[in-house]
Amino acid sequence: MDGMKTPSPEELREMLEKAQKEAEAALAKLSPEERAAVERRAKEMMEKDEAERRELLEQARKLVGSPKASECPHCGAPAGRGSVCEYCGGDL
Ligand SMILES: [Zn+2]
Repeated sequence: MDGMKTPSPEELREMLEKAQKEAEAALAKLSPEERAAVERRAKEMMEKDEAERRELLEQARKLVGSPKASECPHCGAPAGRGSVCEYCGGDL
């Protein structure tokens, strides 16, 4: 009655190899189109993550930047000390 026996390192490695072979077999069963679709989906998920991260950064930048109005609202150049942007001439 020792069902809770911890697997030996060798058994663990065997399990890992088996899982890897099964994953490879599953991929091999896919047609090239299906495999491309799987890879495309993985890429899309990564790009979505990237876009969300960038959007979050942009929002944080706006939150931090807006109270000080340190940027020209017209062209985004760093605002100087005057009331007019020295880059585009717009009102600050
Ligand atoms: Zn400007």
